[in-house]
Amino acid sequence: MSRTCGLRPAVVNKRKFQPSMSRVSIRGLAKSFGPVQAVKDVSLDIPDRAFVTLLGPSGCGKTTTLNMLAGLEKVTRGEIHLDEQNITSWAPHERGMAMVFQNYALYPHMNVFGNIAFALQLAKVPKDKTRERVQRVAKALELEALLERRISQLSGGQQQRVALARAMVKEPKVFLFDEPLSNLDAALRTRMRSEIKKLHQQLNATSVFVTHDQEEAMILSDYIAVMRDGELVQYGPAEDVYRKPQHIYVATFIGKPRMSTIPGHLRVSGQDGVMTFDNDDIHLRWPLATRDGQATAIDAEVHLGIRAEDARMSTDGAGDATDTFTGTVALVEPLGSDTYLEIVRGPHAITTRVEPDLHIKPNAQVVVQLPRHKLHFFDAGSGVRLNL
Ligand code: ATP
Repeated sequence: MSRTCGLRPAVVNKRKFQPSMSRVSIRGLAKSFGPVQAVKDVSLDIPDRAFVTLLGPSGCGKTTTLNMLAGLEKVTRGEIHLDEQNITSWAPHERGMAMVFQNYALYPHMNVFGNIAFALQLAKVPKDKTRERVQRVAKALELEALLERRISQLSGGQQQRVALARAMVKEPKVFLFDEPLSNLDAALRTRMRSEIKKLHQQLNATSVFVTHDQEEAMILSDYIAVMRDGELVQYGPAEDVYRKPQHIYVATFIGKPRMSTIPGHLRVSGQDGVMTFDNDDIHLRWPLATRDGQATAIDAEVHLGIRAEDARMSTDGAGDATDTFTGTVALVEPLGSDTYLEIVRGPHAITTRVEPDLHIKPNAQVVVQLPRHKLHFFDAGSGVRLNL
């Protein structure tokens, strides 16, 4: 495959590609394949011009949800609205949506022009108009020099651009992406991810993107919908999903490195003015601020969660601090810009981010501080976030 074509960011003429208003609303959507309930009662509001990602592990129902949006899969229950219209039973071509598939689904025997023009030819758009629209999209995505090339003569990145061009030429109200980056090698994947992000910033078209890659979701999305077993676990702005995960599943799925979690007993008493967390190996205590005086009393088995950037590490003694514990460095992972340490105490482990020039060695004894306002607590039984 040729890798010679530049992957410089495509500059799109915004004026010509300004999409119309396109808000998508999914209400109680469900899909069963015989006994398999692939999607169960999913409701989402996708704002006009937003980039929304459906995120979750393999088999959680992301593609089925996207296919129902596209009209490629009949819904078992529920409704899909585009702006003010109920489009649940509309045919795919009536919906004004364009899908970019994982395998690009390009026609290998056709050249790039033929691939981009195909849908317009099918819709009997006049020849001169078709040529004009294809040229315009090809220019936007820097494919002009490749229009006569066969698909088999293109690199993976170029094929991905043709797939994008084929969607763009339809001037859709909504773009649907089904894991479009998953067939690319790591370096190209990162570059094409930036391409899609820039394209969205320039086009501003409502987009729904499916991926199992949380990093991709964080980088691309305005809003993330985290799915598990056909259900929506959390939907909200990407930053909220990261900062305020509503379930331990979301907390540990989103973020790299993974959020550290430790089981223990949490006790909050407004009367004592303290909050305590204890298990056999770790005992922590935080004073409650005055405004916490009204805090709901809690006496529960929980999982304490903390992100690597929020746990603080020091090689000095613990002093009088009651929100620290001493642990042993089990793993040092230098990434160049940052270093991650895994610090263990008994069966528990916390990952923390430190400056790379600290040069901590494995087996060092260090103190970990868990600042109260950086902590997350999840009910040990249900996994649901406790709002303290
Ligand atoms: P992946 O990332 O692997 O594509 P996904 O999250 O997109 O996974 P879906 O492809 O939507 O998941 O599948 C959800 C569930 O529905 C899975 O259990 C899958 O096996 C099942 N499923 C999907 N399509 C069909 C089908 N046509 N017939 C039967 N079961 C299906």
